[in-house]
Amino acid sequence: MAEEREQTKVFKSNWDLPLYSWRIEADALNLFIKGLKEKKILGRKCSKCGTVYVPGPTYCRKCMVDIEEVVEVGQEGVIGAFTVNLADIRGNPLPEISIVVCVKLDGADSWLMSRLEGWTDWKEVKSGMRVRIVWKDEVKGALADLDHFELIK
Ligand SMILES: [Zn+2]
Repeated sequence: MAEEREQTKVFKSNWDLPLYSWRIEADALNLFIKGLKEKKILGRKCSKCGTVYVPGPTYCRKCMVDIEEVVEVGQEGVIGAFTVNLADIRGNPLPEISIVVCVKLDGADSWLMSRLEGWTDWKEVKSGMRVRIVWKDEVKGALADLDHFELIK
């Protein structure tokens, strides 16, 4: 019985990723965009538990209280998780390998996701490595203003 439970189940089918979506509340997004226009990362800090959210919602997910305080977090942070993209959705090798990272910026308690640059061998990328934000030369107040993260050597 136990053996049966431990078996990996394989489902072969198409997985339509664009069907998946996520939401952040408008106030959190507006504050985040306002920061991007000045090459700053703005979030909100809960006065009760001290959690810093980026993007910053107007209420704390832990304490369920309103959050008023706007804070700027660091432009550097640490990789918490990452994905190495070696192949496309059909399994065909990509012409260029890309890495997507989840980064906890200094002073933040939540994660931002973007591409990672500045690596030479993807096998050497590890959680815990330090990175910094690389901005687009001209920022427009769009999510794409944060062009990517770069490894700090
Ligand atoms: Zn809180």
